[in-house]
Amino acid sequence: MTFATLGLIEPLLRALETLGYQTPTPVQAQAIPAVLAGRDLMAAAQTGTGKTAGFALPLLQLLTMEGPKVAANSARALILCPTRELAEQVHASVAEYAQHLPLTTYAVYGGVSINPQMMKLRKGVDILVATPGRLIDLFRQNALKLNQLQTLVLDEADRMLDLGFSEELANIYRMLPKKRQTLLFSATFSDDIRLLAGQMLNDPLSIEVSPRNVAANTVKQWVVPVDKKRKPELFVHLMRKGRWKQVLVFAKTRNGVDALVDKLQGLGINADGIHGDKPQATRQRALDRFKTSEVQILVATDVAARGLDIEDLPLVVNFDLPIVAEDYIHRIGRTGRAGNTGEAISLVCADEVNMLSAIEMLTRQTLTRKMEADFEPEHRVPDTDASGQVVKKPKKLKKPKTSGGGGKRNLGKWVDSGDVAPAEPSIKPVRKVPVFNTGPRKKK
Ligand code: AMP
Repeated sequence: MTFATLGLIEPLLRALETLGYQTPTPVQAQAIPAVLAGRDLMAAAQTGTGKTAGFALPLLQLLTMEGPKVAANSARALILCPTRELAEQVHASVAEYAQHLPLTTYAVYGGVSINPQMMKLRKGVDILVATPGRLIDLFRQNALKLNQLQTLVLDEADRMLDLGFSEELANIYRMLPKKRQTLLFSATFSDDIRLLAGQMLNDPLSIEVSPRNVAANTVKQWVVPVDKKRKPELFVHLMRKGRWKQVLVFAKTRNGVDALVDKLQGLGINADGIHGDKPQATRQRALDRFKTSEVQILVATDVAARGLDIEDLPLVVNFDLPIVAEDYIHRIGRTGRAGNTGEAISLVCADEVNMLSAIEMLTRQTLTRKMEADFEPEHRVPDTDASGQVVKKPKKLKKPKTSGGGGKRNLGKWVDSGDVAPAEPSIKPVRKVPVFNTGPRKKK
């Protein structure tokens, strides 16, 4: 199969040739004809499978072939993304695919001044990539009208709900014209997402190119059990031993990111961090420098986990496990992309056993544990497996004689997630009920 046999027009084929795309990926093979046929879409695709081109290529073609010229302060297609970084990245891809087409594209997001965005929108843009909050601001300030909108794309829809955007989505839903095409993309599909899809989509075609909630099998994954307080030391040890050159590291909290970056920099290691407290320009600069290998270790909270496309990223390290199990799939999806192999290593302490169990259940696999000599934990990580079982009575280990270290509280038992540090405050891990959900909320 080729892109030409999928019915794409010549200017798009030319752009793909320049980019070196020869064969459509499975999600592209299914999505492109369906979108061209005008169908609504509900697509579950693994991260790194080429889903951006899966929606962007047919969307660009439809906008070129059909519909009126874009009016002032209007957009003909809207792509909603959960984070600024993803919005930038999706926009960059769309602009590349559109390079030979007479269409305009633009990205808007928060954390930067709204005025230049308002100016840019004056003439209207064919494709607008946006994060939900800024889109609503622009709409409320009359800088953007949506009555010309032909197509709405919800990219990483589950993440938008995870980040607490359900109210924003419900507001945007009310701003949209009834007659439109809607494409919903997500790496994972929860009940809340299906609910959202039920509201927003019209007779959607379901595309599922990989088993639900399974991470790319090109990623080799394992777990290193360790005591919480020794994680930084273990990280540095593994880094030196494995001669890691480019590593994306995930920590749970903003403070956690800062502490690890400080520690690494203190050891003369080339590290930088990104999280929600940092200004957008700083975040983007750190990411750009990481992409060009000027920075060796990039430590991030989950805000950086989604959709970031870093060419040939060989390794992801979960310094902390994510509170939301689905985030594990998104995190490790930063490696092993577009058929490359990658590795994902998780440093897991006893406190995190419930999260480990949730991840194994979600991904339907028992993660291999590899003990690192001299780092065997005093607080044993209880056994887990893909069935969601946690062996609740781990062997009681002898209390270490040395004082301090916080060993007493958690000695020989696992603690539930109520005992772990909260996620970074601006990110709301608890999903709010979408306001258009009238029924009772299902307990997870
Ligand atoms: P995505 O899942 O959209 O983030 O895409 C992951 C990576 O795969 C990006 O670097 C794309 O440029 C690349 N890609 C997407 N489709 C293809 C294709 N058909 N052939 C080769 N590379 C692709």
